[in-house]
Amino acid sequence: MSQPQKVALVTGGATGIGLAISQQLLNDGYIVVVNYQASQAAADAFVEGAKAKQQLALAIQANIGVSSDVIRVMDTIVSTFGRLDVIVNNAGITEDGLMLRMNEEQFDRVIQTNLKGVWLVCKYGLKPLMQAGNGRIINIASVAGLMGNFGQSNYAAAKAGVIGLTKTLAREMASRQLTVNVVAPGFIETRMTDKLSEQVKTSALNMIPLKRFGQPEDIAHMVSFLASPKAQYITGQTFVVDGGMTMY
Ligand code: NAP
Repeated sequence: MSQPQKVALVTGGATGIGLAISQQLLNDGYIVVVNYQASQAAADAFVEGAKAKQQLALAIQANIGVSSDVIRVMDTIVSTFGRLDVIVNNAGITEDGLMLRMNEEQFDRVIQTNLKGVWLVCKYGLKPLMQAGNGRIINIASVAGLMGNFGQSNYAAAKAGVIGLTKTLAREMASRQLTVNVVAPGFIETRMTDKLSEQVKTSALNMIPLKRFGQPEDIAHMVSFLASPKAQYITGQTFVVDGGMTMY
């Protein structure tokens, strides 16, 4: 008897790194649920592209920082596909500024999406993941959460928080063979980094031993591995994908 097709949810899965992850998981054989907040056209294009290749995908609009939205996402997935096997917490925002100038609203907004959003998606996704067996959670943090970064006190705090959350959840869920890991990208070329000044980009490049910026697919390949049976004995870990920028 053939195995039922596995289902993966990618938050912020319609653009940048999330889109590369969504595409990779689709190619790996998953039904992919793409969550988006504003990028409806990109999400619809992904679903249409999947359909054209006889693959199954679904787009769901939701703000991951709002619990009622997250609960609706999980209910929709379970009622549509009857299962959820993999969650990739990829959605994230930046609102940079030196701490002297950063206001409380900038801090709160980044924490709400990048940390509380991850917590909410994990919390309300746990039940279906446990039911599926061998569930996987992969959280996209950042090297900023490991090293800190100028102008990113809000973002670095949120991403460091995601790493602590991941280790805790990995311990709590281990008895159920549900693994929880982090991928921490360095500088990846997306719209998030497009908006940085040439000066910031040049100084970032100088810190990267491989002397080039990463591509969204570099992150998607690591996610693909962590979601696969090959990674079944790995949990609570942080995998840095950054061209060698951070070496300890
Ligand atoms: P991006 O293209 O701007 O992607 C961010 C995604 O998050 C968008 O698809 C966006 O969806 C979604 N999103 C934001 N707020 C949301 C919310 N409240 N609810 C649902 N979705 C929301 O940038 P990216 O570079 O691919 O970033 C992806 C992840 O990688 C982020 O977590 C980021 O922190 C992390 N990261 C990126 C880099 C890098 O160098 N690019 C480095 C380290 C870590 P909509 O467009 O629909 O609003």
